[in-house]
Amino acid sequence: MSQNSENKSVGVDNASGVSGANAINCVDKENAVKENGAKHDVFTVAKRSQIMSKVRSTGNASTELKLIAEFKERKITGWRRKSKIFGRPDFLFPKLRVAVFVDGCFWHGHDCRNTKPKDNADYWRAKIERNQRRDQAATERLTALGYRVVRIWECEFQKKRRERLEEKLAPIVEAFERWKAESQNGEAGPT
Ligand SMILES: [Zn+2]
Repeated sequence: MSQNSENKSVGVDNASGVSGANAINCVDKENAVKENGAKHDVFTVAKRSQIMSKVRSTGNASTELKLIAEFKERKITGWRRKSKIFGRPDFLFPKLRVAVFVDGCFWHGHDCRNTKPKDNADYWRAKIERNQRRDQAATERLTALGYRVVRIWECEFQKKRRERLEEKLAPIVEAFERWKAESQNGEAGPT
């Protein structure tokens, strides 16, 4: 998941990006100055940073843990987290040449549910669009480097979107199986 600007204040330990949009959205709604199209940032930098780190540590961590559970269920191994490679994918499989991002629906602009902010719409839209451009750049760059890029939306972990998640995981499973077959007389797995 690509970073949004608040993320930088947290440093590499929390390089996994942002999620939990609902939380920040609710907070923002409670406090926002209700002026249409106004770019008021109602929080101080410190306060916003505090809120954001709270959102990050709950939201995205849990989706990443869910994805790890999915990998384990399929006996897929060999991922790296917090890779410094361009775009900082949430999971990188160096040997499979697969990069996986888990994108929060709000921050990355998924058109899946009510993720359109009503208050300070311009402010949020600009942020989201910047994230989307960054996501696209990361996908293009990693693809050019020979990685298969898999982007999973936060909402695809919901039961009703199970099928979609399976579709996204299929190429990872495939790459893993292929890798295993190719390296049978050697290592035990891409760990
Ligand atoms: Zn979504």
